[in-house]
Amino acid sequence: MAATIKRIRPVGRYAVGIDWTDGHESILPHRHLRLACPCNACVAATPEVGPKECEAAFVRAIGAATLFIAWADEHETLFVADELRALCRCAYCVREPNYPISGQ
Ligand SMILES: [Zn+2]
Ligand SMILES: [Zn+2]
Repeated sequence: MAATIKRIRPVGRYAVGIDWTDGHESILPHRHLRLACPCNACVAATPEVGPKECEAAFVRAIGAATLFIAWADEHETLFVADELRALCRCAYCVREPNYPISGQ
């Protein structure tokens, strides 16, 4: 089963930290998250992303499988856990994206 969100925590002013149920930890910069917004509008045309667009006014996990972000420009983003995990750019994920973490 794919990992889900165990806990989120702020990391400074510009990133959110995700603790995953498989023990992995991700630190995802707000800018990176905004640029990866999977909503129809953002997928259709990558928006201009200035400081306001990258300011997360509100971040909350909805259950274990969804992350909700409300941005300072009033845009809203929903990520499902799989999308979020795919955005992790830690050394481990970048080097071994398909390596199973919990032995299988
Ligand atoms: Zn969007
Ligand atoms: Zn990672």
